[in-house]
Amino acid sequence: MSLLVVGSMAFDSIKSPFGEAEQIVGGSATYFSIAASCFTPVRLVSVVGRDFPEAAIGKLSARGIDLQGLTVAEGETFRWKGYYENDLNVAHTVRTNLNVFEDFAPVLPAEWKETPYVFLGNINPRLQLDVMAQIRKPRIVALDTMNFWIEKSPQPLREAIRNIDILVINEAEVRQLTGELNLIRAARLLMDAGPERVVIKRGEYGVLHLSGDGIFAVPAYPLDTIFDPTGAGDSFAGGFMGYLASMGDKEISEKDYRMATVYGSAVASFTVQAFGTQRLESLSRDDIAQRVSSFRSLSEIPG
Ligand code: AMP
Repeated sequence: MSLLVVGSMAFDSIKSPFGEAEQIVGGSATYFSIAASCFTPVRLVSVVGRDFPEAAIGKLSARGIDLQGLTVAEGETFRWKGYYENDLNVAHTVRTNLNVFEDFAPVLPAEWKETPYVFLGNINPRLQLDVMAQIRKPRIVALDTMNFWIEKSPQPLREAIRNIDILVINEAEVRQLTGELNLIRAARLLMDAGPERVVIKRGEYGVLHLSGDGIFAVPAYPLDTIFDPTGAGDSFAGGFMGYLASMGDKEISEKDYRMATVYGSAVASFTVQAFGTQRLESLSRDDIAQRVSSFRSLSEIPG
């Protein structure tokens, strides 16, 4: 079934202990849509400037990602500059230039208003609310955010979180959002405020998926080389939501949610093996299936 994403499309400048890259194509919606398109048809809502390379847009559309919701506006594309030190779990932001996102007001094509699966990717919570207001009776709405928006737009963010089903968010941001250091207690506070599920991304420590049905933990796939963790969170979310959307209209069980968490983790483990979207772009269903089976043996408890 179709999966709609709204989020950033960006030029990223990134430095990690293993190298650096200047002005490469990134953004939450970019990583998410490439990852999700391995599983299901994707509809992308975002804005880029005239400086965004046509070849990058061509690559997305070649994957079958529907770009009717992509606006090419006068002005410059969103830019993010960041770096990682030895702790790859922490992205340090040097600069964020919203550029064309300053005046962006998404208008969904009429036939997109009934999209069953919706991902409100990391972007201004006002845009997340704008998209939510245009969607009719979705099956599942999930949302991601980051420290930048928790600080700049706490009120609209709180309003958006009140009306979603799943919050997909990283560990530091869960603490920042709730003021609670213990992740289990923080997730309970968040579930009291709206979402039925909270999926906490913990970088190299994996993912915790919490709901009324209990807690499910998936480790991060142990890799001997990680080049660039940028986009791992968005690729996780793309694999997670893409897997759920691929289930069709059958009722989604706790087992399906858990498998989606494993699929998301498998996809994210490829993203970090190269700078930018490079590795993600060449990912096959076979690569993903093999990594999912490695995950099975990784966590099998004998007895
Ligand atoms: P992550 O998956 O969390 O590593 O997200 C990385 C992506 O988030 C990068 O490609 C950035 O372009 C994008 N990004 C960084 N800051 C922001 C922001 N304030 N709003 C939206 N997207 C952002």
